[in-house]
Amino acid sequence: MDVAGQPHNHHLVFFHVREDSTFRAMHTTPAFPTLHVVTHPLVQHKLTLLRDRSTPTKIFKELVDEIATLMAYEATSDLPLEPAPVDTPLEATVGRRVMGKKLTLVPILRAGLGMVEGICRLVPSARVGHIGLYRDHDTLEPVDYYFKVPGDAAERDFFLLDPMLATGGSAAAAVASLKRAGATRIRFLCLVAAPEGVRRLATAHPDVPVFCAALDRELNEHGYILPGLGDAGDRLFGTR
Ligand code: URA
Repeated sequence: MDVAGQPHNHHLVFFHVREDSTFRAMHTTPAFPTLHVVTHPLVQHKLTLLRDRSTPTKIFKELVDEIATLMAYEATSDLPLEPAPVDTPLEATVGRRVMGKKLTLVPILRAGLGMVEGICRLVPSARVGHIGLYRDHDTLEPVDYYFKVPGDAAERDFFLLDPMLATGGSAAAAVASLKRAGATRIRFLCLVAAPEGVRRLATAHPDVPVFCAALDRELNEHGYILPGLGDAGDRLFGTR
């Protein structure tokens, strides 16, 4: 049985079918139709180092950065291309360039910050917005305490970043905030996802694909992912 309580029924799916793509198969399951698990060996190897409780803050930060780069490589693999005339030192030719909308990264504070630089290295033109959320003690609903994204949200592709998709409450609220600002194309990039969070986000926002490095077993009673990697913010910033 898998984490969804379904018989093992993993399919290899291709996120898009451009014939010249370098895109690899990713694992998904019918129980989680929005989820794309990046199965690349380097991602899996680095994730195991991240899970290790003895990995020090400096290495943890570097690993999050590297995995974010690799995840972004997967999450951008279906960007449309357009012809681009170019003069080589020998002759004129026509290359290709990404024609898509402008990319905006939006880390959910604070752990999402750890994923920004690794993606910016791959897409230096990306803009960076920020979302800060807290949980209201009375209503238990997530509330924005900080929200800043570029003004032309409708023109942009958004990558919402948080290493951990746990209950899905913050993720769903952050997506709703982005949509209120005009965003229509949003992808959620995390490192570790819990089945509960993937389901909640998919129910609230079925149009938002989720990319993760691992779909873990469950949440514990404190909302931590098992087996997980602990508190990502504390491990990134050394605040434990
Ligand atoms: N946030 C974390 O940092 N870790 C978890 O396991 C769950 C939420």
